[in-house]
Amino acid sequence: MPAFPHPFRAYTAFRRAAYSAGPAPRRQFLPREFIGALLDGAAERLPLLDAPDLPWELAERVHDPAYLARWRQGEVTRAEERALGFAWTPAVVERGLSSAGATLAATRDALEVGLGLNLGGGTHHAYADHAEGFSFLNDVVISARWLLDSGQARRVLILDLDVHQGNGTASMLADEARSLTVSVHAEGNYPFSKERSDLDVALPDGTGDAAYLEGLNSRVAPVVADFRPDFAFYLAGADVLAGDQLGRLALSPAGVRARDDRVFGWAARSGVPLVAVMAGGYNRDPQTLISARLGTLDSALSAFIQRAGVI
Ligand SMILES: [Zn+2]
Repeated sequence: MPAFPHPFRAYTAFRRAAYSAGPAPRRQFLPREFIGALLDGAAERLPLLDAPDLPWELAERVHDPAYLARWRQGEVTRAEERALGFAWTPAVVERGLSSAGATLAATRDALEVGLGLNLGGGTHHAYADHAEGFSFLNDVVISARWLLDSGQARRVLILDLDVHQGNGTASMLADEARSLTVSVHAEGNYPFSKERSDLDVALPDGTGDAAYLEGLNSRVAPVVADFRPDFAFYLAGADVLAGDQLGRLALSPAGVRARDDRVFGWAARSGVPLVAVMAGGYNRDPQTLISARLGTLDSALSAFIQRAGVI
């Protein structure tokens, strides 16, 4: 592994057999043939480690154990498969467990060096007792619960900038006063029946860079400042980009980079440990999506390397 002039690294579940064997889900974050290009680009920037499996007992702290047991055994109804968005296979379970394991490993990194990265994750439509929207396990809620239970964080921000509302996350943390759930999303998009986050910023179809960034400044920043988080999760969804098959907003690549720079810059300046997960991205042009993902890594490294004074 080449040496990098910084202490940061990223986790990926994409090298797991579950991502390459068997039938591919009709929709996934990136068509299978492009995953290699994403991983190569990431590995030029930082060490890329394979995701460890999440221990099931951590999932059981936030998900209904009966739900998990049924899914592990494939006792899933057609209606449940429709809500998930694709058919159950053992790979669904393996992907969920490794993706959530990557987010947990990134959380440990953030405690240690300030920044943790998962090249996947952000399955924010998973509820305590059911799967939805490509989401079986809610990786961020699992890691947030682990942090709070273990006393390693006391005030956890979940900044969900995926184009879809973080409905599962909002539902699962509704009664948790030590978390702040923020979702900035396209109002007319899935999920069509929304939950109530601590702060929802619902944007009209076609919202572009200027209005989006203004929303972050005027609506999100003051609420986050009031909450004074001591740990943050960032769902850096690339499905806000114009041209996304499942998005309804119209950010440019430069707008997404400006968004990322604001989030990572804030965390680095304020000394709040931050985990970034990639969440959704279904661009018609896979190269646009890969560039956005690598741009998110560049933004994170740039902000945190400056803070660390490594270069
Ligand atoms: Zn999304």
